[in-house]
Amino acid sequence: MAFLSCFDLRKQSSLYLHIPFCFSKCAYCAFYSNSGCSETLISSYVDKLCDEIEALTTLMDKPFYTAFIGGGNPGCLSPEDLERICKKVCAKGRPVEFTCEMNPESLTRNHFPLFEKYMTRLSMGIQSLDEKALSFLGRNCSLEDELKAINMAKDLREKTGTSLNFDLICCIPTEHNSISDMKKIVEMATPDHISLYALSIEEGTGLYKRGLSPMSDDRQYAELKSLWSVLNSLGYEHYEVSNFAKKGKESLHNSVYWDYEQYIGLGCSAASTGFTQEGTYRCENISDIKTYVSSEIFSTYNLTRLSDEEIEEELIMLGLRHKKGLSLQRLEKIRGSKIRSIPDGFSIIDNYIVPNEEGLLTADAAALSVDSALYTL
Ligand code: SF4
Repeated sequence: MAFLSCFDLRKQSSLYLHIPFCFSKCAYCAFYSNSGCSETLISSYVDKLCDEIEALTTLMDKPFYTAFIGGGNPGCLSPEDLERICKKVCAKGRPVEFTCEMNPESLTRNHFPLFEKYMTRLSMGIQSLDEKALSFLGRNCSLEDELKAINMAKDLREKTGTSLNFDLICCIPTEHNSISDMKKIVEMATPDHISLYALSIEEGTGLYKRGLSPMSDDRQYAELKSLWSVLNSLGYEHYEVSNFAKKGKESLHNSVYWDYEQYIGLGCSAASTGFTQEGTYRCENISDIKTYVSSEIFSTYNLTRLSDEEIEEELIMLGLRHKKGLSLQRLEKIRGSKIRSIPDGFSIIDNYIVPNEEGLLTADAAALSVDSALYTL
């Protein structure tokens, strides 16, 4: 089966593009990214990505609903290369939401025209405003770089109307005060959206190789709860386990993932979910830049048809992490499953299993208990 046959392109589609380049590797990072790549390789990668986007948009008669350029650090591309990508993405019109990730040290005024013409949202990995925490995380940028970037992002919003998201990491074992970090960031720029993640130490990362362990669950819960309540008091709605937004500023692109709708991922290590009359498909691309660049378009993606059990599990896992909740009607449609009981921290509202703040703290464990509480007649 060919890659493009995994999608119904008459349906609303979102696009994710992976840029696997970084200036250096952060100590906590488990994403596929490479540092020290030559300009020639980066440019060939952009050529390949552009060829794939063009082949895709030729088959579409409307714009992508949302688009997201992530990584890696898309700021490793020159503004000219980024513009080549943006033009291809917008060939059928500008998406309703078009986000670009960018590390603080990468944002320059040369990027502003791209946000004026094509992109609508900037997502910046600030992670922390504490020198010790930044060094623990092995970030490439200093506190000074970050403060400069926050002010520049603010200026970008004022000049172009770009919406701002800042990514932050908490539960870092360096004794710094993450609450004052949070307050300072909001005071400086009042971002429209904040993604807040508890530090996890994944196999293969620099932190893992140093034999470090994450904070205990109890300490993590306590820190998360305090930060959630600070964000709440600052006017951010907690709408997904790790995501907070000012009213009307929820991420439309990420909501496509959480709502389990169709999205197409292009570039190394990118994943897609496609829905056709024949079934639901997961496509995953190889994590190897040179092979990707030198192969025929769409020839490096592994395609799998998902079973009903797998679809059910994914729907439960994603639905319980979101304030909107898990649709029981949609669950039943897959293979007739009904539910016997629901976990603590959740209630049933209008045929959806909906989490409260306690439920959001235990969403992953709750997904397992919902899964085992299913039955079919
Ligand atoms: S900048 Fe982002 S993608 Fe790159 S190494 Fe750091 S965390 Fe990973």
